[in-house]
Amino acid sequence: MKAYDGMYIGGAWRPAAGQDVIEVVNPVDEQVIGTVPAGTAEDVDTAVRAARAALPEWAATPPAERAARLAALRDVLAARADEIAETVTAELGAPLKFSQAVHAAVPIAVAGSYAELAATYAFEEKTGNSVVHHEPVGVVAAITPWNYPLHQIVAKVAPALAAGCTIVVKPAEDTPLVARLFADAVHEAGIPAGVFNLVTGLGPVAGQALAEHPGVDLVSFTGSTAVGRRIAAIAAGQIKKVALELGGKSANVILPTADLAKAVNVGVANVMSNSGQTCSAWTRMLVHRDRYDEAVGLAATAAAKYGERIGPVVNAKQQARVRGYIEKGVAEGARLVAGGPEAPREKGYFVSPTVFADVTPDMTIAQEEIFGPVLSILRYDDEEDALRIANGTVYGLAGAVWAGDEAEAVAFARRMETGQVDINGGRFNPLAPFGGYKQSGVGRELGVHGLAEYLQTKSLQF
Ligand code: NAD
Repeated sequence: MKAYDGMYIGGAWRPAAGQDVIEVVNPVDEQVIGTVPAGTAEDVDTAVRAARAALPEWAATPPAERAARLAALRDVLAARADEIAETVTAELGAPLKFSQAVHAAVPIAVAGSYAELAATYAFEEKTGNSVVHHEPVGVVAAITPWNYPLHQIVAKVAPALAAGCTIVVKPAEDTPLVARLFADAVHEAGIPAGVFNLVTGLGPVAGQALAEHPGVDLVSFTGSTAVGRRIAAIAAGQIKKVALELGGKSANVILPTADLAKAVNVGVANVMSNSGQTCSAWTRMLVHRDRYDEAVGLAATAAAKYGERIGPVVNAKQQARVRGYIEKGVAEGARLVAGGPEAPREKGYFVSPTVFADVTPDMTIAQEEIFGPVLSILRYDDEEDALRIANGTVYGLAGAVWAGDEAEAVAFARRMETGQVDINGGRFNPLAPFGGYKQSGVGRELGVHGLAEYLQTKSLQF
């Protein structure tokens, strides 16, 4: 157990204004592994002032120099990859291999992509008799969740810094340690004082104070739809810009011509990965009625393999919530073919990899985001029926389509109301825009579209 001290503000670790702390718990064994200060509105104010003071100079720093700092940041993160993976494993409970391959590797790739974009992006363009300048939006407030704790931070910090913005980050209370490690990396990379600031604390206290602060120009939030709605309302009152990455309930549509075994196996792996705590997870599998029973059998077998390999969910509350959803699925008449509500281990916040068959589109487990290792398999009659089911939720973050040939899958994907679709198991691309249709959010992260969120235009006429 280690008592971590201070907030990273204005280029140094400074004592927190208050005395309260947040306990960080290892979800595998429920042991407290550390404490961090619970920030107050006073800490937030100090951090926003530091970010505002640093803004003019950073905004005026040539993009090539900002790119060099981001490249240095990528290199520091790469040099500390093992430490990052171990920290995420300790506070999130993710198996170490997954932490290395995803929780550490993806932020390095994203930081690298913004080092390149900062160097190559056209911050100035001509149109007719005008020159259009793409200028930084200003001071950014970033509020992030625990599910991919470093990725969610880097997906905001890297484009914001590339754009010339300065930033205050309020990480999730469950995973503040990797955020602190990141602050050290920023320092080591030589990013000027005040450009990046970190305030740990509770959402309704530090998070809300940050969203409400008049010195903030843009609030970039990733998390639940409920909190996103509050943030949007706060921002509306001050005409602040917002970017919201919210929940999802993505469909994995397996068309009749698909390689069924591959589609089901990859689909199950997608849902079980990170213990189901992935906003873009394909939690609804849609299978044609003629191949339904075969698909259910394959999914049950695939899910059983995850029994020992899967990590816990992040905390006791989340475990209770996920188990509540599983009970609700049973109560509403879905058929359990793998897993169930019972905790598979006595200690730790584990949930059994669970698969439901005979799920109908109106059931709670087919409509609400569960954020745990729970897959629902739905039956469709024909393509129109599949499309209606796929589009039949308030969410639209991601999805997948499988078909015998790519053109058939693409034709279906183009009709889906969702921001990202993987075709026949397409790989993650850190340059592709990520974000939601409908209630899954506002704005995009990653790549050039993610950079544009942190820019505003000024036209000069000649
Ligand atoms: P959450 O909304 O409870 O918390 C997210 C962040 O908001 C945390 O830092 C929290 O401290 C803060 N917060 C909480 N209340 C606040 C308030 N009143 N004012 C300001 N900040 C506040 O979400 P969570 O439980 O941490 O994460 C799970 C949710 O995040 C899921 O719904 C998931 O789908 C979503 N998510 C979305 C994406 C995406 O990119 N679309 C990515 C990851 C997670």
